[in-house]
Amino acid sequence: MFDVAVIGQGPAGGMAALRLAEAGHSVVAFDRKKRVGDPIHCGEGLGKIALEHTNYPVGDWAIREVKGNRIRMPNGKAVGLMSPGYSIHRWGLDSKISDDAVAAGTERHEGIKISKVTKENGHWDLFSKDGEVAKAKQLVIAEGRVPNIVTQVGLKGNDKLRLLPGLQYKFKTSDVDFPDNDYFDFYIDPMYADGYVWVFPRDGIFNVGIVATNGAKSGLEYFCREQMNVDPEKRILNDLGDKQNGGLIPRDGPIPQFSTKGAYVVGDSAGLTNPITKGGVHVGMLSGEYAAIAIGNELGSGKLVPPSHAINYHELRGQYWENCGEALHPDLESHVWYDRILKRQPWTKQKFVDQSKLIYSLDKRVLNLIGEIYDGRNYSDLPWLKMFAVLIKNPDLAPLAGKLLKIKASLKVTETYGW
Ligand SMILES: Cc1cc2nc3c(=O)[nH]c(=O)nc-3n(C[C@H](O)[C@H](O)[C@H](O)COP(=O)(O)OP(=O)(O)OC[C@H]3O[C@@H](n4cnc5c(N)ncnc54)[C@H](O)[C@@H]3O)c2cc1C
Repeated sequence: MFDVAVIGQGPAGGMAALRLAEAGHSVVAFDRKKRVGDPIHCGEGLGKIALEHTNYPVGDWAIREVKGNRIRMPNGKAVGLMSPGYSIHRWGLDSKISDDAVAAGTERHEGIKISKVTKENGHWDLFSKDGEVAKAKQLVIAEGRVPNIVTQVGLKGNDKLRLLPGLQYKFKTSDVDFPDNDYFDFYIDPMYADGYVWVFPRDGIFNVGIVATNGAKSGLEYFCREQMNVDPEKRILNDLGDKQNGGLIPRDGPIPQFSTKGAYVVGDSAGLTNPITKGGVHVGMLSGEYAAIAIGNELGSGKLVPPSHAINYHELRGQYWENCGEALHPDLESHVWYDRILKRQPWTKQKFVDQSKLIYSLDKRVLNLIGEIYDGRNYSDLPWLKMFAVLIKNPDLAPLAGKLLKIKASLKVTETYGW
């Protein structure tokens, strides 16, 4: 019998396996992919804050540093979100975390899909199509965006309606007409339904992708032709030999409950993506880390102590972490503590999800006016006089001021907690 079984070796499951194996527990991990990280489902952007929060070292999977993000409106004017990050080899990051977990003692099985989990006499039995593959005292569910095991342990998963499709191409820098600089650009336009197009610079390559509720392929190809002056057919193969990559992203916030006795849901399985950027690597790693703390307490190797960044690090603590000590009392049951620490994060709050969606509901004229107002400034540096001047000229847009403040608040959470 293993102490812990981890289903899925993306960044969330990899991080949980790594921290639990490092703490001396016997860990078995499964991934249905033949090779962890392959194929890639990612734009391959990661905020530096992710590594600070999870205390994970940068590696050669990080191929280029960027200074921050620019949210570009249809008129091309930008609002800045200047927290730094990296262009990464996503398969490199996933496989490195999982390989580190193996080096720390995790028994990993690739190419095995867990199809069924049952609870017998207080432990979990895991089955593939060929029969039972492991028994474990504790379970980490890190199966990504489509819930299967989550619902088998009695929790509610995200359903398909709450998933946003994404698609990405790669181009050589020399094949496109686009400036190569150290920023990630996000293009917001109602034509990219509920989503955006991203351009992430790499080493002589641009990742160009889209998330949109519909028309993702046509939206992406329109952007390539119109904004980058390149035929989509000129795209190149990615590191693993694929001509495009894509996938589905949870977009409507987290599942109602993150854990039940002995079972912890992490990453995309828990709906943990940033609703503005749709990024999920950081919060996936973070939730894997929190699950490892909770399970470590359950198995007697550690205590229910939140990492310092979770309660002390950020400027928003006064607003969100009142009564935190009581709510996260170290005598709580481990799974209750895990559920609570995630629910106490500003980025899992419904208010943040709602604020984040706001920017995608604005029409072209309003987006362009926001671009005019900011004109390249960081989101935190709202030029009030300019905003009032715009509102005086456009009196029908009086509610814009309130919306801008909400958008600003959601970008603050993203800057403070990572994207
Ligand atoms: C097109 C696209 C672009 C994106 N761009 C970014 C970005 O630039 N930055 C960012 O931070 N995030 C990005 N995301 C989101 C990010 O990829 C996810 O949030 C992240 O992968 C979540 O990590 P995870 O470990 O929870 O899940 P995953 O990475 O999906 O890992 C889950 C793993 O579980 C395995 N698995 C599933 N079911 C089973 C089973 N039954 N048995 C065994 N194994 C199983 C899968 O094979 C998979 O390896 C993007 C997503 C998409 C689709």
